[in-house]
Amino acid sequence: MDPAPTTPTTPTALTGPARALRAACDLVWPLECAGCARAGLLCCRGCARSLRRPPPPAALADGTPVLACAAHAGAARQVLLSVKERGRADARPVLAAALARALERLPAPAGRGVDLVPVPTRAASRRARGGDLVADLAARTAALARARGRDVRAARVLRVARRVADQTGLDAAGRRANLAGAFAVRGPLPPGPCVVVDDVVTTTATAAEAVRALRAAGARVAGVLCVTLA
Ligand SMILES: [Zn+2]
Repeated sequence: MDPAPTTPTTPTALTGPARALRAACDLVWPLECAGCARAGLLCCRGCARSLRRPPPPAALADGTPVLACAAHAGAARQVLLSVKERGRADARPVLAAALARALERLPAPAGRGVDLVPVPTRAASRRARGGDLVADLAARTAALARARGRDVRAARVLRVARRVADQTGLDAAGRRANLAGAFAVRGPLPPGPCVVVDDVVTTTATAAEAVRALRAAGARVAGVLCVTLA
């Protein structure tokens, strides 16, 4: 049990016109925690902390390690869903910070940087969500990792190779069949190890297909990084 309090973090102090503008914005679009809807802040300390509770070590069927920030439950799940389904783009930095922290659990390969490869997103999902969330998270995470002195880049080298059906409602076998051969590599592969990035890993079918496509093209895949693991 985590005894730490869940007091909200105080937003950066604003003064003068900035403060007045912020107050006006809060009247029109009241800011609330992306996880628990507590008023007045982007993500409260308790919900941010929920994204730093890694589940037990997990791996794909082929042994590729899966690094998750948290289990797909509770506040961590709510923060992710707010960003993914409810348009809370302002909370993306919270997810990226958690991903950068989870990435630190991956042993740094000697002499080589790491490339974060986002799982490609279907065009319909990009339209519905106002852009490619996973690619954006990969880029933000790489920037944070570099700020901490690690040689990490984001490399969008996977693309959707053919149409796939919506995964909703499919079981694990159905998802695997739906995604078989769905991704392909575009452009030159990074010379060092890759880490596949996704927002949530559920049946692992999507992550496994991304890993398969990268390895088939000759890439070295060190792991899978995700916000939550179901
Ligand atoms: Zn909260």
